Amino acid sequence: MNPTDTTRRTFIQTTSIGAAATTSTALIAAEPKSSGKSSRTIETDVLVCGGGCAGSAAALAASRAGAKTLMVEKAPFAGGIITSVGLPYFDGIAHIDTKRIVVRGIALELLSKSGVCAPDAKTVAKHNPAILNTFEFKLLLDGVFQEQKDNLSVLFNSFICDAQSKGDRVESVTVANKDGLVTIKPKVVIDCSGDADVAAWAGAPFEQNKEVQPLTLHFRIGNVQPHDEFGIQCREALAAAQQRGELPHYYGPGVMFLYAKNEVYIHGVRVPADPTDAADLSRAEMQGRADAHAMFRAWKRDVAGFKDAYFMEAYPWIGVRESRRIIGQHVLSEEDLMTSRRFDDAIATGCWYLDLHPNKTVVGSANDFNPRKVQPEPYDIPYRSLVPQKLENLLVAGRCHSATRGAHASTRVTVTAMAMGEAAGVAAAISLKDKTSVAEINGVKVREQLESQNAGPFTDA
Ligand SMILES: Cc1cc2nc3c(=O)[nH]c(=O)nc-3n(C[C@H](O)[C@H](O)[C@H](O)COP(=O)(O)OP(=O)(O)OC[C@H]3O[C@@H](n4cnc5c(N)ncnc54)[C@H](O)[C@@H]3O)c2cc1C
Repeated sequence: MNPTDTTRRTFIQTTSIGAAATTSTALIAAEPKSSGKSSRTIETDVLVCGGGCAGSAAALAASRAGAKTLMVEKAPFAGGIITSVGLPYFDGIAHIDTKRIVVRGIALELLSKSGVCAPDAKTVAKHNPAILNTFEFKLLLDGVFQEQKDNLSVLFNSFICDAQSKGDRVESVTVANKDGLVTIKPKVVIDCSGDADVAAWAGAPFEQNKEVQPLTLHFRIGNVQPHDEFGIQCREALAAAQQRGELPHYYGPGVMFLYAKNEVYIHGVRVPADPTDAADLSRAEMQGRADAHAMFRAWKRDVAGFKDAYFMEAYPWIGVRESRRIIGQHVLSEEDLMTSRRFDDAIATGCWYLDLHPNKTVVGSANDFNPRKVQPEPYDIPYRSLVPQKLENLLVAGRCHSATRGAHASTRVTVTAMAMGEAAGVAAAISLKDKTSVAEINGVKVREQLESQNAGPFTDA
């Protein structure tokens, strides 16, 4: 269809959550329902692509700052890795030794609303605290989004499948959902897809390592009894399964009694794949499920505590650690991290170690190295590492922001992604108010706005 053919499309303003929830007619199909196919266009000030760690924070920050915001997410819920891959850890929130909180703002708000700490906490008990219910985290996000219903709309079950640019602007983003193909025309786009889908399809420069970190499916097993040497036996059972040819790769395994004293949550699946290749990603999903069940069978066979155990569930999606990284106005480097380089336009603080998983079996650990050796002191993340080259109305936050592969191994964690998302949302709102492109905004202004709302960098606090 010709994109300028407005006779077949209905142009509407972004509708609020409340409106969308009470009447589906707020979003009008351009073609008769009886055709079973609709086509339409939505206009919005800010479009947040992906509702994961970075995207949820970006959508909240932009809408709270007064911008009409639409968040689009392929899952039926928000939370990204936390809810769709079942990863409950808020890594990056605090210094590894002092436990001093280095990321406040929306990340700390969500952690405290999950019951882990006080809203004004200055330290946390563990540097990597976990929320203890990922379903309740979905509800928490639903609730905070609905509080912004005047400015924020959410489309779940909506897969971003294309982006169109004209000159130095992203003109539109195409989404496939139950309405058919929907064209979204935003003033500012924030790509929080993890894979930089929008940035790549709109023509922003990016890089992707030929071999990226392996993918992991998380799963849970119920009715497990811990006993002496339980951990060692779990490890030996996987080594034996691998020798029998039942398990190509694994790591750890991390077999954690995290949620209940007779239930284990497992980190151990390791599948090398290219997550930006649809066929390879599909293969990886199947391999992940096969490996998770192979581990279960190995433990049932060789570890006494699994005698009456049952496979509860694997989370819906295999988790992606690494894919595209945009090449931004500043490419954050390992040296920037390891020397704790200071930036005037710092908008977030990172503090996790350089956590790079290899594509091979590593027993007893996830990495080949001692994390302490690649543990930076809290470091600055500059605004310019969220700003891609070439496109003036696009920001990229979360694990696809601009960093070298080594630096990204630290910045990719959940809380750091949330901090970047919050900064991007604030920057988008500033750009709309100031009528300046996000590429031209001075990051110092974003930093000041974040600081005024108890967010932004706490590198030296
Ligand atoms: C297996 C695994 C274990 C990890 N362990 C830890 C850990 O212990 N601690 C820690 O802090 N970090 C961990 N990480 C890293 C961290 O969780 C992620 O890097 C972090 O979630 C990055 O946040 P993000 O917002 O960039 O991505 P995500 O949280 O993944 O969010 C991206 C969102 O975009 C959506 N999306 C993607 N493409 C599209 C599209 N085309 N259309 C619509 N929606 C789309 C996704 O559904 C998702 O909701 C782990 C990662 C993996 C994969």
